[in-house]
Amino acid sequence: MDHFPIFVKLTDQTVLVVGAGPVAARKVGLLMSSGARVAVVAPAAEAGLRELASRRQLTWHAREFIDDDVSGARLVFAATDSAAVNARVAEICRSREIPVNVVDQPALGSFIMPSIVDRSPVLAAISTGGSAPTLARLLRGRLEAAIPAAFGQLAALAREYREQVKAVIAHPTARRRFWEQAFDGEVAELTFAGREADARERLEQMLHCPAPRSLGEVYLVGAGPGDPDLLTFRAMRLMQRAEVVLYDRLVSEPVLDLVRRDAELVYVGKRRGNHAMHQRAINEQLVELAATGRRVLRLKGGDPFVFGRGGEEIDTLAERGIPFQVVPGITAASGCAAYAGIPLTHRDHAQSCVFVAGHLQDGTVNLNWPALAHPGQTLVFYMGLVGLPIICEKLVEHGLGSDTPAALVQRGTTPQQRVLTSTLAQLPALVERERPRAPTLLMVGSVVELHGKLGWFQPDRPESGHLTTGPQRI
Ligand code: SAH
Repeated sequence: MDHFPIFVKLTDQTVLVVGAGPVAARKVGLLMSSGARVAVVAPAAEAGLRELASRRQLTWHAREFIDDDVSGARLVFAATDSAAVNARVAEICRSREIPVNVVDQPALGSFIMPSIVDRSPVLAAISTGGSAPTLARLLRGRLEAAIPAAFGQLAALAREYREQVKAVIAHPTARRRFWEQAFDGEVAELTFAGREADARERLEQMLHCPAPRSLGEVYLVGAGPGDPDLLTFRAMRLMQRAEVVLYDRLVSEPVLDLVRRDAELVYVGKRRGNHAMHQRAINEQLVELAATGRRVLRLKGGDPFVFGRGGEEIDTLAERGIPFQVVPGITAASGCAAYAGIPLTHRDHAQSCVFVAGHLQDGTVNLNWPALAHPGQTLVFYMGLVGLPIICEKLVEHGLGSDTPAALVQRGTTPQQRVLTSTLAQLPALVERERPRAPTLLMVGSVVELHGKLGWFQPDRPESGHLTTGPQRI
Protein backbone atom coordinates (compact mmCIF):
# COMPACT_ATOMS: atom_id res chain seq x y z
CA MET A 1 0.00 0.00 0.00
CA ASP A 2 1.52 3.21 -1.22
CA HIS A 3 -0.68 5.55 0.80
CA PHE A 4 -2.56 4.91 4.00
CA PRO A 5 -6.28 5.73 3.68
CA ILE A 6 -7.81 7.70 6.54
CA PHE A 7 -10.76 10.07 6.92
CA VAL A 8 -9.82 13.24 8.76
CA LYS A 9 -12.24 15.20 10.95
CA LEU A 10 -11.92 18.83 9.92
CA THR A 11 -14.81 20.50 11.74
CA ASP A 12 -13.60 23.93 12.87
CA GLN A 13 -10.04 23.16 11.81
CA THR A 14 -8.19 25.69 9.70
CA VAL A 15 -7.28 24.52 6.24
CA LEU A 16 -5.16 26.65 3.94
CA VAL A 17 -5.67 26.68 0.19
CA VAL A 18 -2.98 28.46 -1.80
CA GLY A 19 -4.41 29.51 -5.16
CA ALA A 20 -7.92 30.59 -6.10
CA GLY A 21 -8.66 29.28 -9.58
CA PRO A 22 -11.27 26.69 -10.56
CA VAL A 23 -9.25 23.75 -9.15
CA ALA A 24 -8.77 25.50 -5.82
CA ALA A 25 -12.48 26.38 -5.81
CA ARG A 26 -13.44 22.71 -6.13
CA LYS A 27 -11.24 21.84 -3.15
CA VAL A 28 -12.67 24.73 -1.16
CA GLY A 29 -16.20 23.46 -1.85
CA LEU A 30 -15.34 20.01 -0.54
CA LEU A 31 -13.53 21.38 2.48
CA MET A 32 -16.42 23.63 3.39
CA SER A 33 -18.88 20.75 3.20
CA SER A 34 -16.71 18.92 5.73
CA GLY A 35 -17.02 21.83 8.16
CA ALA A 36 -13.45 23.13 7.84
CA ARG A 37 -12.54 26.77 8.34
CA VAL A 38 -11.00 27.67 5.00
CA ALA A 39 -8.36 30.32 4.38
CA VAL A 40 -7.38 31.15 0.81
CA VAL A 41 -4.21 32.95 -0.25
CA ALA A 42 -4.01 34.29 -3.81
CA PRO A 43 -3.62 37.73 -5.41
CA ALA A 44 -6.79 37.18 -7.48
CA ALA A 45 -9.70 34.83 -6.90
CA GLU A 46 -12.41 33.41 -9.17
CA ALA A 47 -15.92 34.82 -8.75
CA GLY A 48 -17.36 31.99 -6.61
CA LEU A 49 -14.55 32.29 -4.06
CA ARG A 50 -14.83 36.08 -3.97
CA GLU A 51 -18.52 35.70 -3.23
CA LEU A 52 -17.82 33.25 -0.37
CA ALA A 53 -15.23 35.63 1.01
CA SER A 54 -17.63 38.58 0.87
CA ARG A 55 -20.17 36.49 2.79
CA ARG A 56 -17.43 35.68 5.30
CA GLN A 57 -17.72 31.96 4.71
CA LEU A 58 -14.01 31.83 4.11
CA THR A 59 -11.04 34.10 4.65
CA TRP A 60 -9.32 35.39 1.53
CA HIS A 61 -5.87 36.96 1.79
CA ALA A 62 -5.56 38.82 -1.52
CA ARG A 63 -1.82 38.65 -1.95
CA GLU A 64 1.09 36.35 -2.78
CA PHE A 65 1.85 33.38 -0.52
CA ILE A 66 4.28 33.91 2.34
CA ASP A 67 5.82 31.10 4.41
CA ASP A 68 4.05 32.09 7.56
CA ASP A 69 0.63 31.51 6.00
CA VAL A 70 0.90 27.83 6.89
CA SER A 71 1.06 28.55 10.63
CA GLY A 72 -1.88 27.00 12.43
CA ALA A 73 -3.13 25.11 9.39
CA ARG A 74 -4.28 21.52 9.92
CA LEU A 75 -3.91 20.75 6.22
CA VAL A 76 -2.58 22.71 3.27
CA PHE A 77 -3.48 22.53 -0.41
CA ALA A 78 -1.15 24.03 -3.00
CA ALA A 79 -3.34 24.74 -6.01
CA THR A 80 -1.73 27.62 -7.88
CA ASP A 81 -0.76 27.48 -11.55
CA SER A 82 2.84 28.26 -10.64
CA ALA A 83 5.01 25.16 -10.15
CA ALA A 84 7.53 27.25 -8.19
CA VAL A 85 4.94 28.53 -5.70
CA ASN A 86 3.48 25.03 -5.28
CA ALA A 87 6.95 23.62 -4.63
CA ARG A 88 7.66 26.34 -2.07
CA VAL A 89 4.39 25.64 -0.24
CA ALA A 90 5.22 21.93 -0.17
CA GLU A 91 8.71 22.58 1.10
CA ILE A 92 7.68 24.83 3.96
CA CYS A 93 4.91 22.41 5.00
CA ARG A 94 7.32 19.50 5.02
CA SER A 95 9.75 21.41 7.19
CA ARG A 96 6.95 22.21 9.65
CA GLU A 97 5.40 18.74 9.45
CA ILE A 98 2.04 19.98 8.15
CA PRO A 99 0.30 17.58 5.77
CA VAL A 100 0.26 19.10 2.28
CA ASN A 101 -1.37 18.19 -1.00
CA VAL A 102 -0.04 19.56 -4.27
CA VAL A 103 -2.74 19.50 -6.87
CA ASP A 104 -1.52 18.06 -10.18
CA GLN A 105 1.88 17.14 -8.70
CA PRO A 106 0.99 14.52 -6.08
CA ALA A 107 4.60 13.41 -5.68
CA LEU A 108 5.52 16.79 -4.20
CA GLY A 109 3.02 16.57 -1.37
CA SER A 110 2.60 14.32 1.64
CA PHE A 111 -0.99 13.25 0.99
CA ILE A 112 -3.20 12.79 -2.06
CA MET A 113 -6.91 13.29 -2.60
CA PRO A 114 -9.02 10.31 -3.58
CA SER A 115 -11.98 10.33 -5.98
CA ILE A 116 -15.02 10.26 -3.77
CA VAL A 117 -18.62 9.11 -3.89
CA ASP A 118 -20.51 11.20 -1.35
CA ARG A 119 -23.59 9.64 0.15
CA SER A 120 -23.02 11.30 3.49
CA PRO A 121 -22.63 9.94 6.04
CA VAL A 122 -21.47 7.15 3.72
CA LEU A 123 -18.32 8.03 1.82
CA ALA A 124 -16.45 5.89 -0.68
CA ALA A 125 -12.95 7.02 -1.56
CA ILE A 126 -10.92 5.59 -4.43
CA SER A 127 -7.27 6.10 -5.06
CA THR A 128 -4.77 4.73 -7.54
CA GLY A 129 -1.92 6.28 -5.56
CA GLY A 130 -1.71 9.03 -8.16
CA SER A 131 -0.79 6.61 -10.95
CA ALA A 132 -4.04 6.72 -12.94
CA PRO A 133 -6.53 9.36 -11.76
CA THR A 134 -8.74 8.68 -14.80
CA LEU A 135 -9.09 5.07 -13.73
CA ALA A 136 -10.11 6.21 -10.26
CA ARG A 137 -12.73 8.49 -11.79
CA LEU A 138 -14.02 5.63 -13.95
CA LEU A 139 -14.37 3.43 -10.92
CA ARG A 140 -16.08 6.24 -9.12
CA GLY A 141 -18.64 6.41 -11.93
CA ARG A 142 -19.40 2.73 -11.43
CA LEU A 143 -19.80 3.16 -7.70
CA GLU A 144 -22.03 6.19 -8.25
CA ALA A 145 -24.26 3.94 -10.31
CA ALA A 146 -24.18 1.06 -7.85
CA ILE A 147 -24.82 3.03 -4.66
CA PRO A 148 -28.35 4.45 -4.66
CA ALA A 149 -28.57 8.19 -4.11
CA ALA A 150 -30.52 7.70 -0.88
CA PHE A 151 -27.86 5.44 0.62
CA GLY A 152 -26.89 8.24 2.97
CA GLN A 153 -30.45 8.45 4.31
CA LEU A 154 -30.26 4.74 5.08
CA ALA A 155 -27.03 5.20 7.02
CA ALA A 156 -28.50 8.18 8.85
CA LEU A 157 -31.51 6.07 9.83
CA ALA A 158 -29.19 3.36 11.12
CA ARG A 159 -27.23 5.94 13.12
CA GLU A 160 -30.44 7.16 14.68
CA TYR A 161 -31.46 3.66 15.80
CA ARG A 162 -28.03 2.31 16.65
CA GLU A 163 -28.24 2.71 20.41
CA GLN A 164 -31.83 1.54 20.59
CA VAL A 165 -31.02 -1.61 18.61
CA LYS A 166 -28.05 -2.23 20.86
CA ALA A 167 -30.31 -2.00 23.89
CA VAL A 168 -32.97 -4.35 22.51
CA ILE A 169 -30.71 -6.91 20.77
CA ALA A 170 -27.87 -7.68 23.14
CA HIS A 171 -26.05 -10.36 21.17
CA PRO A 172 -23.64 -8.98 18.54
CA THR A 173 -24.37 -11.75 16.00
CA ALA A 174 -28.11 -11.26 16.29
CA ARG A 175 -27.56 -7.54 15.95
CA ARG A 176 -25.50 -7.98 12.82
CA ARG A 177 -28.25 -10.16 11.34
CA PHE A 178 -30.82 -7.52 12.20
CA TRP A 179 -28.89 -4.84 10.34
CA GLU A 180 -28.21 -7.12 7.38
CA GLN A 181 -31.91 -7.75 7.07
CA ALA A 182 -32.67 -4.05 7.31
CA PHE A 183 -30.02 -2.99 4.79
CA ASP A 184 -30.82 -5.69 2.28
CA GLY A 185 -34.56 -5.69 2.69
CA GLU A 186 -37.65 -3.62 2.90
CA VAL A 187 -36.22 -0.90 5.13
CA ALA A 188 -33.61 -0.14 2.48
CA GLU A 189 -36.09 -0.33 -0.38
CA LEU A 190 -38.55 1.98 1.35
CA THR A 191 -35.77 4.46 2.04
CA PHE A 192 -34.57 4.37 -1.57
CA ALA A 193 -38.16 4.93 -2.70
CA GLY A 194 -38.30 8.09 -0.58
CA ARG A 195 -40.76 6.60 1.94
CA GLU A 196 -38.77 7.40 5.05
CA ALA A 197 -41.69 7.29 7.47
CA ASP A 198 -42.62 3.79 6.26
CA ALA A 199 -38.98 2.69 6.49
CA ARG A 200 -38.85 3.90 10.07
CA GLU A 201 -42.09 2.13 10.90
CA ARG A 202 -40.81 -1.10 9.35
CA LEU A 203 -37.56 -0.84 11.31
CA GLU A 204 -39.49 -0.37 14.55
CA GLN A 205 -41.63 -3.34 13.65
CA MET A 206 -38.57 -5.52 13.01
CA LEU A 207 -37.14 -4.40 16.31
CA HIS A 208 -40.16 -4.90 18.52
CA CYS A 209 -42.06 -7.74 16.84
CA PRO A 210 -39.51 -9.66 14.83
CA ALA A 211 -42.01 -12.19 13.38
CA PRO A 212 -41.66 -12.36 9.59
CA ARG A 213 -44.23 -10.32 7.74
CA SER A 214 -46.73 -12.22 5.68
CA LEU A 215 -47.14 -9.60 2.94
CA GLY A 216 -44.74 -9.34 0.03
CA GLU A 217 -44.40 -6.41 -2.31
CA VAL A 218 -44.91 -5.70 -5.98
CA TYR A 219 -42.51 -3.67 -8.10
CA LEU A 220 -44.14 -2.35 -11.23
CA VAL A 221 -41.12 -1.60 -13.36
CA GLY A 222 -40.68 -0.07 -16.81
CA ALA A 223 -38.18 -2.11 -18.81
CA GLY A 224 -37.76 0.49 -21.57
CA PRO A 225 -38.08 -0.14 -25.28
CA GLY A 226 -35.49 -2.90 -25.66
CA ASP A 227 -31.89 -1.77 -25.25
CA PRO A 228 -30.88 -2.96 -21.75
CA ASP A 229 -28.62 0.09 -21.37
CA LEU A 230 -31.78 2.18 -21.11
CA LEU A 231 -32.89 0.59 -17.83
CA THR A 232 -32.86 2.82 -14.76
CA PHE A 233 -30.62 2.07 -11.78
CA ARG A 234 -33.69 1.41 -9.68
CA ALA A 235 -35.09 -1.02 -12.23
CA MET A 236 -31.78 -2.88 -12.18
CA ARG A 237 -31.73 -3.06 -8.41
CA LEU A 238 -35.29 -4.34 -8.11
CA MET A 239 -34.62 -6.87 -10.87
CA GLN A 240 -31.93 -8.25 -8.59
CA ARG A 241 -34.22 -8.36 -5.57
CA ALA A 242 -37.28 -9.97 -7.14
CA GLU A 243 -38.15 -13.55 -6.34
CA VAL A 244 -40.73 -13.92 -9.07
CA VAL A 245 -41.02 -11.96 -12.31
CA LEU A 246 -44.11 -11.49 -14.46
CA TYR A 247 -43.16 -10.22 -17.90
CA ASP A 248 -44.73 -9.92 -21.31
CA ARG A 249 -43.76 -9.96 -24.95
CA LEU A 250 -42.53 -6.38 -25.08
CA VAL A 251 -39.73 -7.02 -22.58
CA SER A 252 -36.61 -7.72 -24.62
CA GLU A 253 -34.48 -10.79 -24.02
CA PRO A 254 -31.31 -8.86 -23.11
CA VAL A 255 -33.35 -7.12 -20.40
CA LEU A 256 -34.73 -10.39 -19.09
CA ASP A 257 -31.19 -11.74 -18.92
CA LEU A 258 -30.47 -9.15 -16.25
CA VAL A 259 -33.11 -10.47 -13.86
CA ARG A 260 -31.78 -12.33 -10.83
CA ARG A 261 -30.69 -15.79 -11.93
CA ASP A 262 -32.77 -17.76 -9.45
CA ALA A 263 -35.95 -15.72 -9.82
CA GLU A 264 -38.99 -17.55 -11.14
CA LEU A 265 -39.99 -16.18 -14.56
CA VAL A 266 -43.66 -16.15 -15.52
CA TYR A 267 -44.66 -15.19 -19.05
CA VAL A 268 -47.96 -13.34 -19.15
CA GLY A 269 -47.62 -12.35 -22.81
CA LYS A 270 -50.17 -10.01 -24.19
CA ARG A 271 -49.97 -10.32 -27.93
CA ARG A 272 -52.67 -8.48 -29.80
CA GLY A 273 -55.78 -10.67 -29.92
CA ASN A 274 -53.95 -13.47 -28.15
CA HIS A 275 -53.76 -12.59 -24.50
CA ALA A 276 -51.87 -15.47 -22.92
CA MET A 277 -53.44 -14.32 -19.72
CA HIS A 278 -56.34 -11.98 -19.37
CA GLN A 279 -55.57 -8.66 -17.70
CA ARG A 280 -57.79 -9.42 -14.72
CA ALA A 281 -55.97 -12.70 -14.21
CA ILE A 282 -52.64 -10.85 -14.17
CA ASN A 283 -53.97 -8.42 -11.57
CA GLU A 284 -55.14 -11.33 -9.45
CA GLN A 285 -51.89 -13.21 -9.83
CA LEU A 286 -49.91 -10.20 -8.61
CA VAL A 287 -52.07 -10.06 -5.49
CA GLU A 288 -51.80 -13.80 -4.85
CA LEU A 289 -48.02 -13.93 -5.25
CA ALA A 290 -47.44 -10.93 -3.02
CA ALA A 291 -49.84 -12.34 -0.44
CA THR A 292 -47.52 -15.33 -0.05
CA GLY A 293 -44.84 -12.91 1.11
CA ARG A 294 -42.83 -12.86 -2.10
CA ARG A 295 -41.15 -9.93 -3.80
CA VAL A 296 -42.87 -9.75 -7.16
CA LEU A 297 -41.51 -7.86 -10.14
CA ARG A 298 -44.01 -6.88 -12.77
CA LEU A 299 -41.79 -6.01 -15.70
CA LYS A 300 -43.41 -4.09 -18.53
CA GLY A 301 -42.10 -2.82 -21.84
CA GLY A 302 -41.42 0.92 -22.03
CA ASP A 303 -43.08 2.86 -19.24
CA PRO A 304 -45.74 1.12 -17.15
CA PHE A 305 -47.99 4.18 -17.19
CA VAL A 306 -47.93 4.75 -20.94
CA PHE A 307 -50.44 2.44 -22.64
CA GLY A 308 -49.27 -0.22 -20.25
CA ARG A 309 -52.34 -0.74 -18.07
CA GLY A 310 -50.00 -0.24 -15.13
CA GLY A 311 -52.64 1.85 -13.41
CA GLU A 312 -55.10 -1.05 -13.47
CA GLU A 313 -52.56 -3.47 -12.06
CA ILE A 314 -51.72 -1.33 -9.06
CA ASP A 315 -55.34 -0.38 -8.61
CA THR A 316 -56.08 -3.95 -7.52
CA LEU A 317 -52.99 -3.98 -5.30
CA ALA A 318 -54.01 -0.72 -3.64
CA GLU A 319 -57.51 -2.08 -3.00
CA ARG A 320 -56.10 -5.17 -1.31
CA GLY A 321 -53.51 -3.27 0.73
CA ILE A 322 -50.49 -4.86 -0.96
CA PRO A 323 -47.42 -2.60 -0.86
CA PHE A 324 -46.10 -1.63 -4.29
CA GLN A 325 -43.85 0.84 -6.02
CA VAL A 326 -43.72 2.04 -9.61
CA VAL A 327 -40.51 2.62 -11.54
CA PRO A 328 -40.72 4.63 -14.76
CA GLY A 329 -39.13 3.36 -17.92
CA ILE A 330 -38.23 4.97 -21.22
CA THR A 331 -41.37 4.85 -23.27
CA ALA A 332 -41.25 3.66 -26.90
CA ALA A 333 -41.83 7.21 -28.19
CA SER A 334 -38.73 8.55 -26.41
CA GLY A 335 -36.62 5.50 -27.23
CA CYS A 336 -37.59 5.38 -30.91
CA ALA A 337 -37.32 9.15 -31.29
CA ALA A 338 -33.80 9.18 -29.87
CA TYR A 339 -32.52 6.13 -31.75
CA ALA A 340 -34.12 7.14 -35.04
CA GLY A 341 -32.95 10.76 -34.80
CA ILE A 342 -36.50 12.11 -34.91
CA PRO A 343 -36.90 14.72 -32.14
CA LEU A 344 -40.41 14.68 -30.70
CA THR A 345 -40.44 18.47 -30.52
CA HIS A 346 -38.29 20.96 -32.38
CA ARG A 347 -38.58 24.73 -32.48
CA ASP A 348 -38.79 24.76 -36.29
CA HIS A 349 -41.19 21.84 -36.59
CA ALA A 350 -43.36 20.91 -33.64
CA GLN A 351 -44.38 22.73 -30.49
CA SER A 352 -46.40 19.86 -29.12
CA CYS A 353 -46.41 16.11 -29.24
CA VAL A 354 -49.28 13.71 -28.73
CA PHE A 355 -49.04 10.03 -27.81
CA VAL A 356 -51.98 8.13 -29.26
CA ALA A 357 -53.23 4.54 -28.99
CA GLY A 358 -53.80 3.61 -32.61
CA HIS A 359 -55.21 0.11 -32.31
CA LEU A 360 -58.23 -1.09 -34.22
CA GLN A 361 -61.56 -1.39 -32.51
CA ASP A 362 -64.33 -3.05 -34.48
CA GLY A 363 -62.31 -2.70 -37.66
CA THR A 364 -61.71 1.02 -37.30
CA VAL A 365 -59.67 3.54 -35.29
CA ASN A 366 -61.84 5.80 -33.16
CA LEU A 367 -59.98 8.98 -32.36
CA ASN A 368 -60.58 12.70 -32.17
CA TRP A 369 -59.19 13.27 -35.66
CA PRO A 370 -59.79 17.06 -35.87
CA ALA A 371 -57.70 17.51 -32.69
CA LEU A 372 -54.90 15.34 -34.09
CA ALA A 373 -54.73 16.76 -37.59
CA HIS A 374 -52.76 19.88 -36.68
CA PRO A 375 -49.56 21.11 -38.28
CA GLY A 376 -46.79 21.97 -35.81
CA GLN A 377 -47.55 18.88 -33.78
CA THR A 378 -45.86 15.50 -33.69
CA LEU A 379 -48.15 12.48 -33.47
CA VAL A 380 -46.87 9.21 -32.10
CA PHE A 381 -49.13 6.21 -32.59
CA TYR A 382 -48.57 3.19 -30.37
CA MET A 383 -50.08 -0.10 -31.55
CA GLY A 384 -50.74 1.50 -34.92
CA LEU A 385 -49.38 -1.05 -37.39
CA VAL A 386 -52.63 -2.81 -38.29
CA GLY A 387 -54.65 0.38 -38.42
CA LEU A 388 -51.92 2.30 -40.25
CA PRO A 389 -53.75 2.72 -43.58
CA ILE A 390 -56.83 4.02 -41.76
CA ILE A 391 -54.77 6.37 -39.57
CA CYS A 392 -52.99 7.89 -42.57
CA GLU A 393 -56.26 8.24 -44.49
CA LYS A 394 -58.13 9.85 -41.57
CA LEU A 395 -55.37 12.37 -40.89
CA VAL A 396 -55.42 13.53 -44.51
CA GLU A 397 -59.22 13.55 -44.53
CA HIS A 398 -59.16 15.88 -41.52
CA GLY A 399 -56.72 18.36 -42.96
CA LEU A 400 -53.10 17.17 -42.79
CA GLY A 401 -51.28 17.38 -46.13
CA SER A 402 -50.91 14.05 -47.89
CA ASP A 403 -47.20 14.90 -48.18
CA THR A 404 -46.83 15.15 -44.36
CA PRO A 405 -43.73 13.14 -43.44
CA ALA A 406 -44.39 9.89 -41.56
CA ALA A 407 -42.09 7.18 -40.23
CA LEU A 408 -42.57 3.67 -39.00
CA VAL A 409 -39.94 2.55 -36.51
CA GLN A 410 -39.62 -1.21 -36.12
CA ARG A 411 -38.22 -2.58 -32.84
CA GLY A 412 -36.70 0.74 -31.87
CA THR A 413 -33.43 0.78 -29.86
CA THR A 414 -32.70 -2.91 -30.59
CA PRO A 415 -30.31 -4.47 -33.10
CA GLN A 416 -33.42 -5.11 -35.23
CA GLN A 417 -34.32 -1.43 -35.42
CA ARG A 418 -35.43 -0.36 -38.85
CA VAL A 419 -36.85 2.99 -39.87
CA LEU A 420 -39.18 3.38 -42.85
CA THR A 421 -39.81 6.98 -43.82
CA SER A 422 -42.35 8.23 -46.32
CA THR A 423 -45.43 10.46 -46.44
CA LEU A 424 -48.96 9.95 -45.18
CA ALA A 425 -50.03 9.18 -48.74
CA GLN A 426 -47.31 6.64 -49.46
CA LEU A 427 -46.44 5.02 -46.14
CA PRO A 428 -49.21 2.36 -46.27
CA ALA A 429 -47.90 0.98 -49.58
CA LEU A 430 -44.31 1.00 -48.32
CA VAL A 431 -45.31 -0.85 -45.16
CA GLU A 432 -47.28 -3.35 -47.21
CA ARG A 433 -44.16 -4.01 -49.28
CA GLU A 434 -41.60 -4.10 -46.47
CA ARG A 435 -43.72 -5.93 -43.89
CA PRO A 436 -41.99 -4.61 -40.75
CA ARG A 437 -42.15 -6.75 -37.63
CA ALA A 438 -43.84 -5.70 -34.40
CA PRO A 439 -43.48 -3.82 -32.23
CA THR A 440 -43.57 -0.74 -34.40
CA LEU A 441 -44.22 2.90 -33.72
CA LEU A 442 -45.78 5.35 -36.18
CA MET A 443 -44.50 8.92 -36.04
CA VAL A 444 -46.17 11.67 -38.03
CA GLY A 445 -45.07 15.27 -38.53
CA SER A 446 -42.36 17.33 -40.16
CA VAL A 447 -39.82 16.30 -37.47
CA VAL A 448 -39.57 13.04 -39.44
CA GLU A 449 -37.60 15.00 -42.09
CA LEU A 450 -34.75 15.24 -39.59
CA HIS A 451 -34.17 11.49 -39.57
CA GLY A 452 -32.04 11.70 -42.75
CA LYS A 453 -29.60 14.03 -41.00
CA LEU A 454 -29.89 13.03 -37.34
CA GLY A 455 -30.36 9.26 -37.59
CA TRP A 456 -27.23 7.92 -35.92
CA PHE A 457 -28.08 4.41 -34.74
CA GLN A 458 -27.20 1.87 -37.38
CA PRO A 459 -27.18 -1.57 -35.81
CA ASP A 460 -25.58 -4.57 -37.47
CA ARG A 461 -28.45 -6.80 -38.40
CA PRO A 462 -27.02 -9.94 -39.91
CA GLU A 463 -30.37 -11.75 -40.09
CA SER A 464 -32.03 -8.97 -42.05
CA GLY A 465 -29.23 -7.84 -44.33
CA HIS A 466 -31.56 -7.52 -47.31
CA LEU A 467 -33.48 -4.68 -45.70
CA THR A 468 -32.65 -1.03 -46.05
CA THR A 469 -30.49 0.05 -43.15
CA GLY A 470 -29.76 3.37 -41.57
CA PRO A 471 -31.32 6.71 -42.30
CA GLN A 472 -33.16 7.23 -45.57
CA ARG A 473 -34.02 10.59 -47.04
CA ILE A 474 -37.67 11.10 -47.85
N1 SAH B 1 -45.79 0.81 -22.17
C1 SAH B 1 -45.20 0.77 -23.47
C2 SAH B 1 -46.22 0.76 -24.57
C3 SAH B 1 -47.08 -0.45 -24.59
S1 SAH B 1 -48.21 -0.45 -25.95
C4 SAH B 1 -44.25 1.98 -23.62
O1 SAH B 1 -44.26 2.89 -22.78
O2 SAH B 1 -43.48 1.99 -24.58
C5 SAH B 1 -47.32 -1.42 -27.12
C6 SAH B 1 -46.84 -0.57 -28.27
O3 SAH B 1 -45.68 0.14 -27.92
C7 SAH B 1 -46.45 -1.35 -29.49
O4 SAH B 1 -47.57 -1.72 -30.26
C8 SAH B 1 -45.59 -0.36 -30.21
O5 SAH B 1 -46.37 0.57 -30.87
C9 SAH B 1 -44.90 0.37 -29.06
N2 SAH B 1 -43.54 -0.15 -28.82
C10 SAH B 1 -43.07 -0.69 -27.69
N3 SAH B 1 -41.76 -0.98 -27.79
C11 SAH B 1 -41.39 -0.60 -29.03
C12 SAH B 1 -40.16 -0.62 -29.73
N4 SAH B 1 -39.04 -1.11 -29.19
N5 SAH B 1 -40.13 -0.14 -30.99
C13 SAH B 1 -41.25 0.36 -31.55
N6 SAH B 1 -42.43 0.41 -30.93
C14 SAH B 1 -42.52 -0.05 -29.68
